[in-house]
Amino acid sequence: MSLSFLASDLYNSGSLIITKKISFHLFKTQNRHSFSSEYRRRGFTEVVTPTLYSTALWERSGHWEHYSENMFTVTGEGSQTYALKPMNCPAHCLMFEQRVRSWRELPLRWADFGALHRNELSGALGGLTRVRRFCQDDAHIFCTPEQLEEEIVACLDFVKTVYQVFGFSFHCLLSTRPTPCLGEPELWDTAEQQLERSLQQFGEHWELNPGDGAFYGPKIDIQIKDAIGRQHQCATIQLDFQLPIRFNLQYVGPDGQIHKPVMIHRAVLGSLERMIAILAENFGGKWPLWLSPAQVMVIPVGGDSESYAKQVVQQLREAAFMADLNEDQSATLNKKIRSAQLAQYNYIFVVGEKECESGTVSVRSRRGKQLGRRPIEEVLSSLTQLRDTRSNQDDF
Ligand SMILES: [Zn+2]
Repeated sequence: MSLSFLASDLYNSGSLIITKKISFHLFKTQNRHSFSSEYRRRGFTEVVTPTLYSTALWERSGHWEHYSENMFTVTGEGSQTYALKPMNCPAHCLMFEQRVRSWRELPLRWADFGALHRNELSGALGGLTRVRRFCQDDAHIFCTPEQLEEEIVACLDFVKTVYQVFGFSFHCLLSTRPTPCLGEPELWDTAEQQLERSLQQFGEHWELNPGDGAFYGPKIDIQIKDAIGRQHQCATIQLDFQLPIRFNLQYVGPDGQIHKPVMIHRAVLGSLERMIAILAENFGGKWPLWLSPAQVMVIPVGGDSESYAKQVVQQLREAAFMADLNEDQSATLNKKIRSAQLAQYNYIFVVGEKECESGTVSVRSRRGKQLGRRPIEEVLSSLTQLRDTRSNQDDF
């Protein structure tokens, strides 16, 4: 199945809802090992910044000069023009420059899941992989030049931790200065050497990619390989010398003097929409329980078991599972089971008179395997275990 087919299929069947549900699983806070808990553990603060800004900001950041044809604009009162943000970086620079910063506050790590808009050409759009409105797991780190090496190693470790969960293998490319580029050659030399040392320290396979850096700084691109061997580039770690200059960002050092911070742009998953398309293909639409937007379908057999079925659904929802009830009176039991399997519910619970009397559910896995009649408490605890350990296994 081609990626674009699957992605457009998701779109036709209400991808926004699916995207939202899966994003919920990726970032929900109640899970011990969620993305948000990784942020807290690694010293990131989640921030929310506006979507719309005056073009004066984009002129200051340089986006207006280099990127305006990709930006959506709106004309407001008094013919003032505003643009929807295509990136979060200028907003974070505004936050940084809001007051005098001290070296004691650094590094500052701000993560932002804000919606980004980019006016891509219609021919460049494709399913979920390239859309005009998307979210990134975007973050910016402001640090002293001395902290740079350690911050880059920490970024690489973050990438590794997340990709291990999905079973992706990866390798890194160090992209060095292009021609032309902005900034002093000595600055580039130092930064490229620092990135190289971070990569050596990290210890994973990496290659040099000469001349492919951004015009404002060198970067590390991370290429992943999915379960079916396809390569994707999602994560990126970029140094930026230009924005701190354009926004005149400063901090007071331990010497009492004014210094310029270094800015790191980084994303691990990249565009969430694109990552969901990659994952949908990677799992062939069969989401593991912890990531699945359709975890359990409960099917009552006969009118008398309906209230018990509703109670089971409620218990599942209280335990934070995505559970649905099949209330279709007209279809046969076999047809209901079949449609739940086609909709890729991880588990199907059939409940009739016997289950109702004994407080049990009859469990079937997505692949049609019957796992028997079991007490609901036992099933809840097994599913919680499978979900929280992010297991790929079906049986329990
Ligand atoms: Zn950025």
